[in-house]
Amino acid sequence: MFDKLVIANRGEIALRILRACRELDIKTVAVYSSPDRDLKHVRLADEAICIGPAASIDSYLNIPAIISAAEVTDAEAIHPGYGFLAESAEFSEKVKQSGFIFVGPEAETIRIMGDKIQAKKAMIASGIPCVPGNGEPLGDDNATNLKMAQEIGYPIIIKAAGGGGGRGMRTVHTEGALISSIALTKSEAGQFFGNATVYMEKFLEDPRHIEIQVLSDAHGNAIHLGERDCSMQRRHQKVVEEAPAPGITEEQRKFIGERCAQACVDMGYLGAGTFEFLYEKGEFFFIEMNTRIQVEHPVTEMVTGIDIVKEQIRIAAGEPLSYTQDDVVIRGHAIECRLNAEDPATFMPCPGTIDVFHMPGGPGIRCETHIYNGYKVPPFYDSMIGKLIAHGEDRNSAIARMKTALSEMVIDGIKTNIPLQIDIMADSAFALGSQNIHYLEKKLGMS
Ligand code: ADP
Repeated sequence: MFDKLVIANRGEIALRILRACRELDIKTVAVYSSPDRDLKHVRLADEAICIGPAASIDSYLNIPAIISAAEVTDAEAIHPGYGFLAESAEFSEKVKQSGFIFVGPEAETIRIMGDKIQAKKAMIASGIPCVPGNGEPLGDDNATNLKMAQEIGYPIIIKAAGGGGGRGMRTVHTEGALISSIALTKSEAGQFFGNATVYMEKFLEDPRHIEIQVLSDAHGNAIHLGERDCSMQRRHQKVVEEAPAPGITEEQRKFIGERCAQACVDMGYLGAGTFEFLYEKGEFFFIEMNTRIQVEHPVTEMVTGIDIVKEQIRIAAGEPLSYTQDDVVIRGHAIECRLNAEDPATFMPCPGTIDVFHMPGGPGIRCETHIYNGYKVPPFYDSMIGKLIAHGEDRNSAIARMKTALSEMVIDGIKTNIPLQIDIMADSAFALGSQNIHYLEKKLGMS
């Protein structure tokens, strides 16, 4: 196991990684931007190094500064967390070239999964069900494109191969709009992502978002930890996540999970990863793979009892998986509410000083946050300030525990989305489960 690891992130995930390192007896190095010197994990880490000013581009995205921090502290590994450089093939590559271990997959794997066309090809080759549409780059021949769309059947969606963050996509409902939509998406894709390649696939109208967590080691072993339902979204941002997904049967879980694990073996995947699917009328359709730890990993940890971050670090250190597929048993139900420093009605970010923070507790409650009394939420980064997770013997008991915890939680001084989360937990349709990805926006009167 490593002796020392650099945590190349901030906020709750940096603290989560620090805690995993402590349990594994690994010393930690926090790297932070100048306004972040009071972050909880910076105070707790064995060593801390300022890597630049507030702007992410000069600090958390500054590859040479992060690698230098590893050099001067004599660390062995670098954990990228999520966001920032977590899915940068260049970062993975440079970390390795500089003689350090990147806690995550090889640069080549990140590169393939970062290109939606290549990712889809790899999935088709591994027998993962994908959205109808061959995933080939669209050429300039109008007749061919019109024929392809007709065969798939409208509505279709044009997607940029290099797209991300919900951008570079355009839905087409009629033949008349196809040609101009392809041209427009190509030009936008070129502008935003420096890659004008686009492809087309069926547009699914009322899907749920269901994803599979995997762990894959360097010895050819891969397992899946079941699924999460992340359909409660606003502007493609997840708001509430849960595991298992309501209504998914053991057979379905086995079917899709085993295929994901096999795909990991086929591509020599290393570390923790997530296969994201749209789920409609009982069928899964792959949309993308995230090659990093995800925000919502705790719901899977709560129902499986497996510490995904520790396992991720062990895998990076070359150890074989600590679990076989048979060891993975889903127990009870877990729900996560993301806590954001934002206005619950307008969703505008609300940075500022936290005057009073009271963390809820009780059976099955887990709070992942870096905030504390007097902590100042800076305006420069993502507004997520933590996550509240509730585990119960079944979905109803998890919801009941979440309601109690949300009502007990006190965050004074800034506005948060707690009122929205209380509202979602009390929603009668949410109580039934299985809502699609448009439900929350409809409830909020957005669509
Ligand atoms: P990104 O990398 O930008 O997040 P994704 O491929 O994950 O792109 O898609 C983001 C979102 O766009 C999905 O969660 C879904 O809401 C919508 N989407 C993508 N592909 C389709 C599709 N074929 N049909 C319907 N919605 C889609």
